[in-house]
Amino acid sequence: MDKCVHCGLCLNACPTYRELGLEMDSPRGRIYQMVQVANGAPITDAYREHIGLCLACRGCESACPSGVRYGHMVEDARAELEAQTHRGWFAHRLRQFAFHRLLPSRGALSVAGTLLYLFERSGMKALARGLGQLHLLGGLGDLVQLTPSADPPFFFSQIGKTFPAEGERRHRVAFLAGCIANVSFARLNEATIRVLQKNGCEVVVPTGQGCCGALHLHSGLGGEARQLARQNVDAVPEGEFDAIITNAAGCGSTLKEYGELLADVAGYKERARRFSTLMKDVTEFLCGVELNRNLGRVEAVVTYQDSCHLAHGQKIRRAPRDLLAAIPGLTFQEMSGSDLCCGSAGVYNVVENAMSMQILERKMESVNATGARIIATANPGCLLQLQAGVRLHGKGQRVMHVVELLDLAYKTA
Ligand code: SF4
Ligand code: SF4
Repeated sequence: MDKCVHCGLCLNACPTYRELGLEMDSPRGRIYQMVQVANGAPITDAYREHIGLCLACRGCESACPSGVRYGHMVEDARAELEAQTHRGWFAHRLRQFAFHRLLPSRGALSVAGTLLYLFERSGMKALARGLGQLHLLGGLGDLVQLTPSADPPFFFSQIGKTFPAEGERRHRVAFLAGCIANVSFARLNEATIRVLQKNGCEVVVPTGQGCCGALHLHSGLGGEARQLARQNVDAVPEGEFDAIITNAAGCGSTLKEYGELLADVAGYKERARRFSTLMKDVTEFLCGVELNRNLGRVEAVVTYQDSCHLAHGQKIRRAPRDLLAAIPGLTFQEMSGSDLCCGSAGVYNVVENAMSMQILERKMESVNATGARIIATANPGCLLQLQAGVRLHGKGQRVMHVVELLDLAYKTA
């Protein structure tokens, strides 16, 4: 906290400050409040609101010349708030279920995915979305837009398998498939494996893997996040892989910080540090190897939304753009403010729905101004948010992960 010199250079990089123009909803203002609480001031409802409204997007970290590690500070502040929060019976049970029973369990996620699929097939979801767009569902309308889709067959069936390299094997990598992504982004996970195979990778999907714990960590549940981190470190045998790959920037950001997260856990400090060293976002990995250039044409204007946890959390901006530039026929159109959060931010779009929707509307204005037909990004959460953005404010754009565009280009080659 002492590193903050109150210069205010982070203010314009903060989506909530840009929306509200309030110092207390800026990075500098939030740090000021954290300092007060650290010095013994009571935790008030106003403090909860200002810290709760932060997206934890870390845009302020990129803008800060003093090296303030805001992301860690807000995680700690939320952990302290969580420890002092007393929820009602139903809210407590719901939260317990989501974080302790649903996200870490393949069985529970499969059941939830199947129910979601039935909800979609029955036409109820389309009806709800239509009513939402007509503003007939009140506050629920926007939440319905954000519901992920079930994408059967779920990717759980691929866990434990090994996929051979196409041609000469040049790399052996482990792939972490996420938690909800197994249900809602199964095709994206398959596309990621195909693209890695095309680039000389033997891809192993380790059996014991699970949720990375990022959502837990961002919600102040550090103990649970550490437990999940240990599970993933145990799942990837040491010395067998050149890299560990994720296609989810939000997960990658946390997976790369396992070294710090498990620094005080006996028996894990060094193993977690080595795990994090091997961890690569799929775009980062592909840019670091000799890319297979046998790519077909994709004739489209494409813009790119930086995922906060890739651009700000992992400092990766060039790699996804370079991969897009490698695709013949593709015209790239940069949008203004591409590294401003889209409002997704883990479960933020559900718990702070009104602000999330406000930020999304602003984002879609930037997207629409580019004239792009495809919005590329590098994180499943951003894909969902931007798909909702297209339905609410867009012009029929398609939203794709960068590796899905590469997969398409390999298919058309
Ligand atoms: S993390 Fe994002 S929303 Fe939070 S203070 Fe920093 S820039 Fe603002
Ligand atoms: S967080 Fe960094 S950029 Fe923002 S006021 Fe403090 S020192 Fe300045």
